[in-house]
Amino acid sequence: MKKNSLKKIPQLSFVLALSFIALIACSSDSVDDEITEDIANNDDADDDSEEVVTELHAAYAAFNSDAVTVYLDGSEVVIETTGLPNHETIYWGEGNSLYKEEPDVALTPSIMSSNNNATTIRVDATPNLTGSTVQTELGTIGIAVSGSSLFNDQEGGGALDQAAASLDWTGAHIGPGVYHYHLEPKAFTNDDDNLVGILLDGVFLYGRKCSATGDYPTDLDASGGHTSITQYSDGEEEYHYHIINEVYSTTGSYLAFAGPFQGY
Ligand SMILES: [Zn+2]
Ligand SMILES: [Zn+2]
Repeated sequence: MKKNSLKKIPQLSFVLALSFIALIACSSDSVDDEITEDIANNDDADDDSEEVVTELHAAYAAFNSDAVTVYLDGSEVVIETTGLPNHETIYWGEGNSLYKEEPDVALTPSIMSSNNNATTIRVDATPNLTGSTVQTELGTIGIAVSGSSLFNDQEGGGALDQAAASLDWTGAHIGPGVYHYHLEPKAFTNDDDNLVGILLDGVFLYGRKCSATGDYPTDLDASGGHTSITQYSDGEEEYHYHIINEVYSTTGSYLAFAGPFQGY
């Protein structure tokens, strides 16, 4: 008995050793395969980022074509604008056909004709929603459908409410630079789901309501964004921002966009 069992041990070891070698061989094969696949995927990703987009998003058709020129350049969309809006404001100045008398507005020293309002922005045709968020900065954060710039909730480094008296009926004014909106631009969105504009991160901004439900969205992130269909997305769900339905300070109106960007 003792002799027999001793005899079996080397045999068993041999079988185990063979199995082990087979295991190593198998696993190293599959590791090689994975590495090959990874390299292939990386090549694909590089190709995608340089891919030429051939069709402008349907939402660009809603922009004021008298002021705005939009075209594709590789994977980017170029938006050139005169900055001159297609609606009335006191900031056109007396004598202009779009001049609007607004006795309650504490006019800044500038009017439309005293400044150069032109701006050009370039945005990704396909926003990158996987990276970290980016804070908005002073100056143009997007172009509205009217052709004028969108600004954030700051005015010259301070809170906007200090400059609120100079905002016209549509939440805009002129500082040293371009005519721009800080609040819900009532000239083209007033408690509805209308398109407001395109922001620097390539994400579209809509009014306080969503066309997907006809109501105020209840699933917005900190930027006012969510994913659903829109009137311009051809039935596809896509990420977009809304003007957040919260009255800002003592303005009686709503911030257009305070950030952060999600699409950089
Ligand atoms: Zn301002
Ligand atoms: Zn929506």
